[in-house]
Amino acid sequence: MDFSTKAIHAGQKADSATGATITPIYQTTTYTQEALGKHKGYEYSRTQNPTRTALETCLASLENGKYGLTFSSGCAATATVLAMLKPGDHVLASDEVYGGTWRLLAETAKYQGLHVTFVNARNAESFVKCVGAETKLIWFETPTNPLLSIIDIKAITEAARKKKVATVLDNTFATPYFQRGLDLGVDIILHSTTKYIGGHSDVVGGAIVTSSGELYERLKFLQNAIGAVPSPFDCWLTLRGLKTLAVRMEKHAENAEEIAKWLAKHKKVERVFYPGLKEHKGHDIAKTQMSGFSGMVSFEAKGGFEAAKKVAESLKVFSLAESLGGVESLVCYPATMTHASVPKEDRLRIGITDGLIRLSVGIEDVADLIEDLGQAL
Ligand SMILES: *Cc1c(COP(=O)(O)O)cnc(C)c1O
Repeated sequence: MDFSTKAIHAGQKADSATGATITPIYQTTTYTQEALGKHKGYEYSRTQNPTRTALETCLASLENGKYGLTFSSGCAATATVLAMLKPGDHVLASDEVYGGTWRLLAETAKYQGLHVTFVNARNAESFVKCVGAETKLIWFETPTNPLLSIIDIKAITEAARKKKVATVLDNTFATPYFQRGLDLGVDIILHSTTKYIGGHSDVVGGAIVTSSGELYERLKFLQNAIGAVPSPFDCWLTLRGLKTLAVRMEKHAENAEEIAKWLAKHKKVERVFYPGLKEHKGHDIAKTQMSGFSGMVSFEAKGGFEAAKKVAESLKVFSLAESLGGVESLVCYPATMTHASVPKEDRLRIGITDGLIRLSVGIEDVADLIEDLGQAL
C-alpha cells in the first residue's frame, strides 16, 4: 500500500465489537478479564490501549518501520530514549537540535551521569569522528530547527553502523511523507507529533518508530515503566490528523517554496533558509534524502532585532506563536522563543542571529500569506 492509503487504513480496521468505522476513543483505564490472566491483550491503559495501538501501528507503517510507540509529548519520547543509557555513556549530538531537546541533553542528562557533546553535523565526516569508546547514541535532526540545515543521513548511519553506535533521527520537520530515515539506516525515528503529524495545533504528543526488536522491547519496557503515555483522546486526535498528512504536506511545501522564492527577492530580506532553494547549502543532499522540502522557512530581516520584531508583530494572517506544523501559518522569533533555553553565545555560534524569523507556512491561500508578509516587511 502507498503512503496516503496507509495513513488512512494502517492499524485502523473497523472496530471488531461494533463495526465502528473510525477507531473509537477507548476511554478506559482497565479491561475485564474472562479468567485469571485470560484477556484480549489489554490489561491497563498505561501499558496498552487500543486507540494508542491504532496510532502506533499507523505511524510505524508510515515510517516503513516495524514498531511504533507513542508518548505524551515529543520531549517525553526523547527522555524515554535517554533512559536506555547508563552513567558514563556518551551521546554525540548535533549542535542544531530543538531547544527542548538541547535542554534535556545539556541540562538533565548530566544528573543521569551521561556525557553529551554537541558538534556541527553538517559536516558528517568530522561529526562521526567524535564517536568514542563510550558513545552509545548519535542524536540529530534534519532539516534542523530553525535554520533548516540539512544533515546527510546516510553518511551518518553508515559510519555509525561501523562503530556499532545507535542513531536517533528527529524527523519532526520532514515527516515520513517527505523523509524516511529507517530506509536510510537510522535505528530510531523520533517525532513531536504535536507538529505536522497532529497537524491542527490541538494536541501535544510524541512518537518513536524502530525496526529493531531489541530496541523496541527496551523502549516498550521504559514507556510502561516511566509512563509518559498519551491519553486515548490525544491518540484519537493525532490519528485523525494523520489521515490527511499527505495532502497537507503537499500544500505546506508548495506554499513554503513560493514564499521562500518571494522572500529571496525582497530588498528588506538579508538571507532566506529553505532547503528547496537551489542556493541553500544543503539542497543537493536534501534532494537525495527528501521527496519534498516541507513547510518551514526562515529568513533574516535586514536591521537585526528591531526589524525582526517589527515584522513578527505586524503580521496579521500569521500568528505570533511557538510551535509549528499546523494548518494555520505561524511566525516565531527563535532567539527569545524556541531557543530561549540556549545560551546566547551558543545561539549566535550556530547562526540564530537577532534578525532571524521562522515561519511555519500553513495551508491557507498563498497569495494571502505573501500579501501579509509584504505589508509587514
Ligand atoms: C517540538 C519539537 C520537539 C519536542 O516536542 P514536544 O511535543 O513539544 O514535546 C522535538 N523536536 C522537534 C524538532 C520539535 O519541533
